[in-house]
Amino acid sequence: MNIKGFGREAFEQVHALEEQVTSIRLNPFKSVALAMNGKDNLTQSAICNLKSAIAWCPHGFYLPHRPSFTFDPLFHAGVYYVQEASSMFLWEVLKQTAGDNTNGMKVLDLCAAPGGKSTLLASYFQHGLVVANEVIKARAAVLVENITKWGSANVIVSNNDPKDFSALPGYFDIMVIDAPCSGSGLFRRDAQAINEWSEENVQLCSQRQQRILADAYAALKNGGLLVYSTCSYSKQEDEDILDWLCGNFEVENLPLSINGAWGIVETESDIHKAKGYRFYPYKVQGEGFFIAAFRKKDGIAEEYRVQGLTKTTKEETEATGRFIQEDSAFTFFKQGGGIIAIPVAFKNDVAALQKHLYLRKAGITAGSLKGSDFVPAHELAMSMIVNKNIPGIELAYPQAIQYLQKKDIETGNFEKGWSLATYGNINLGWMKVLPNRVNNYYPVEWRILKDAPGR
Ligand code: SAM
Repeated sequence: MNIKGFGREAFEQVHALEEQVTSIRLNPFKSVALAMNGKDNLTQSAICNLKSAIAWCPHGFYLPHRPSFTFDPLFHAGVYYVQEASSMFLWEVLKQTAGDNTNGMKVLDLCAAPGGKSTLLASYFQHGLVVANEVIKARAAVLVENITKWGSANVIVSNNDPKDFSALPGYFDIMVIDAPCSGSGLFRRDAQAINEWSEENVQLCSQRQQRILADAYAALKNGGLLVYSTCSYSKQEDEDILDWLCGNFEVENLPLSINGAWGIVETESDIHKAKGYRFYPYKVQGEGFFIAAFRKKDGIAEEYRVQGLTKTTKEETEATGRFIQEDSAFTFFKQGGGIIAIPVAFKNDVAALQKHLYLRKAGITAGSLKGSDFVPAHELAMSMIVNKNIPGIELAYPQAIQYLQKKDIETGNFEKGWSLATYGNINLGWMKVLPNRVNNYYPVEWRILKDAPGR
């Protein structure tokens, strides 16, 4: 392979070593809450064992070893996301190209499952709207789970083919395409990726990447930002795709400034000299990765004004409002029996997107009204918008695991009614305290199935 930065010997050596680099990215909202509460009792959690910071992402940290995330309640609570360090470079790309003023920006993460980039985007574009899309249905379900746990109200999850986005010309300010690829960048951590690799597959992936880009391109507005990435080392999927983009569309490649100490290699495509950035596991502490950014210079920029969300009744609005912090910042609408809260600013967007896409999740499902009783949804417990006055019941570590296994929780001297089960004062989910028992409302499909170690 004759590509800048590639060294056969170093490549083989790093793959022969059994070393695993494990990293996590903290959820800025939940980890701040945790820091304010103190984390003295949380020694089981990965967040108490951070090794060092990741240079290109302010929320990224390396861990000294890979812990059992399943038995860390804070993993289930969305306090952090386990993400490969090189991928977090997306943060630095956005910092250099999108800047800090992200108010009202509409962002599409086209190939989003399981949600690593989407949760990063949700943190970066706190005042924007992130559409996390995944074409494969089963993978979209995992994406919903991870986005729910992350808790941001400004994320919509859709389950669509890239070509469906052509119905929204000029809509998005930013489009991230973390394309399906031949996966050579993951050889170190996934032996199966080695068995599945072939020259033919690289070729197929390259054609698919072109198709995905061509299908989704119209949905990016003129002047919008396109970020393309893969976890492949193959030039056909990386630099050659940059050349293909420059040859077929009016795009301007955006060079980045790279700190020499980071070990990231800047490369250039053959024809159009477009810059891309390569991550080799023997130069950076992370896996193989490639990323490049472009400004779109053609097409339209469109404002969508569509009305048509199903309104909630006065009773539903009042009942929901009691469970929500600062309810005036949100608009409520009904969907499939559930009452959904979305930031007021994005009301028209939800309507426009709903018209053209299959939305699996939009904003935060707050709950539903059963007779005169409001039944809060798990999404609300995980979110940052849940009312801080709702009583919380702090669980010790073994109880927190039992709760997450959806087992019975001992009846204590708790206040009756809806309460939040918490660990480290971070919400794990709902409990309903009745006179003689406590009902555990943790979602059955997400419960921990394994027994805790030592049981
Ligand atoms: N962005 C994700 C993250 O950071 O967690 C990882 C995305 S993974 C590299 C690529 C995704 O593209 C997969 O979820 C895969 O299901 C999806 N995909 C596969 N074929 C596709 C296609 N033809 N069009 C769009 N997406 C596709």
